[in-house]
Amino acid sequence: MLLRVAKLQLIVAVLIWFGVIAPAAAQWDTKTIEGRDYVAVDGMKSFYGFDTVARSGNDVILENKKVKMRLHVGAQECLMNGVKFVFSYKVEEIGGKAWVSRIDLSKLIDPVLRPSYIDNAGNFRTVILDAGHGGKDPGATNALSTEATYNLQVAERVQKLLESRGYKVVMTRDSNRYLTLQERVDVANNVKDNAIFISIHHNSGGSAARGIETFTLSPIGVAHYGRGLNQSDYQERAGNSHDSANVALATAVHGCMSRRLGTNTFDRGIKRARFSVLTGVQHPSILVECGFMTHPYEARLIHTEAYRTAVVSAIGEAVERYRKAVSMKPVTKE
Ligand SMILES: [Zn+2]
Repeated sequence: MLLRVAKLQLIVAVLIWFGVIAPAAAQWDTKTIEGRDYVAVDGMKSFYGFDTVARSGNDVILENKKVKMRLHVGAQECLMNGVKFVFSYKVEEIGGKAWVSRIDLSKLIDPVLRPSYIDNAGNFRTVILDAGHGGKDPGATNALSTEATYNLQVAERVQKLLESRGYKVVMTRDSNRYLTLQERVDVANNVKDNAIFISIHHNSGGSAARGIETFTLSPIGVAHYGRGLNQSDYQERAGNSHDSANVALATAVHGCMSRRLGTNTFDRGIKRARFSVLTGVQHPSILVECGFMTHPYEARLIHTEAYRTAVVSAIGEAVERYRKAVSMKPVTKE
């Protein structure tokens, strides 16, 4: 039972990006709401080639053969092929129409639906793995182990997996030692080849909190998750040059992990943050939280070989899927 993977479902459902067909010209209906730009959800139908847009209560469902997207008026969440994304702003309703913020459309929906439009993103063979915490900083702790230990165990196994597939892997740490956040950023930025950066963590919170979540750098003008907007959120950071690649990479890792863990996890979604490693690293970057060490049941799962194998396989698979998705050439529709 544990971690049984429905193979077919995995292949079919994980990130079936339909980035091969350029969108038809669309008429975007736009509106300013509370000083922010919004676009009507209806316009996404022809632009992204959805067959149907259906409304059911507050749900708006856009669908074609490959993608099912569900938005909820008044909420800040969106599901694409079952993967949860946390929007920067709520979906609004005015004049009987649903509206999404332009920033969520351009910085989230678009790169997820059209990863092949991200310039030059597929041209990498180096993966930088950052096992969070270490040394005098154990991270989260419970009766079974420390976060620093789990993070390194996952990173070392992902390293082996990726190296066996021909990737070059750079580790920010390969032993139980302490590094500052800046030192991690420096290790990553010393890599001059095209690369991607994956920071591996396990979570802590109240005893009821559980599940996986993946963070990408907040675009300019978007706050750190759960925090109000600061003046500094309007400054461009190094990581913002890869906004589109960041979210495409997060989609791959989060989607693969969510499906490999199946009923043994809960999808908390892909979120925006301003963690130091995300702001400072000059390669496409994500930070993934692989489960809660403070949840009584999940803590025991995290300690199992089966759970770790699922997490490691998911990250390995996601790197391949991401590279493939961003490497496809867009084809213009006749
Ligand atoms: Zn951590």
